[in-house]
Amino acid sequence: MIKLKYIIITISFYMTSCNIAKFSMPEKEIIKKKYENKIIPLMLVSNKLDSTILYSKSRNFKVSKKDKKLKKLVTLMYETCNDKSNPGVGIASPQVGINKRIVWVQRFDKEKEPFEVYFNIEIIKFYPTKSEGWEACLSVPGYKGIVNRSDSIIIKYDNYEKHDIIETVRGFTAVIFQHEIDHLEGILYTDRIFDKAKLYSDKEYERSFNK
Ligand SMILES: [Zn+2]
Repeated sequence: MIKLKYIIITISFYMTSCNIAKFSMPEKEIIKKKYENKIIPLMLVSNKLDSTILYSKSRNFKVSKKDKKLKKLVTLMYETCNDKSNPGVGIASPQVGINKRIVWVQRFDKEKEPFEVYFNIEIIKFYPTKSEGWEACLSVPGYKGIVNRSDSIIIKYDNYEKHDIIETVRGFTAVIFQHEIDHLEGILYTDRIFDKAKLYSDKEYERSFNK
């Protein structure tokens, strides 16, 4: 009986610790490599292998200031998002092949519009008022689309110093958060466009909307 209890306790401990994922071997390989200008090749939806990662749910992980792999990944993601030849306003870790909950978002709602990194992030409330707006994605090159998103959201996240930080975000920055956090759920903005007439190639967009 005691033995059985021990097994049950061991199993439940194992299951609890399973909710906190570590970097997998393929993820460690990606982080370990050297990249020109610290820019990681982006996962593209047009590639079958890449799309498996893009359509997978990302997991929480243990945040530690001492984790050198995490620090390197955070730098690589920042540089990749700020690639002058292909810049973005946000990036999520599945876009560089890592299914852990990490996003960078440009905070247009703050002074000087800084980029900030968020760990184990999730949306805990979507306010009901929604608006349509244009979106594009580094992993879906060549397209732009109109997506309906909440104007305001409440997010919960960790950073290097604190856990479970709660914050309300509004406007365009809230849209970027929704786009990036969708990536962590394995959802692309194109999946949110139910009327495909609202998805345009860059050429069509230029012709019709950017005269
Ligand atoms: Zn995207």
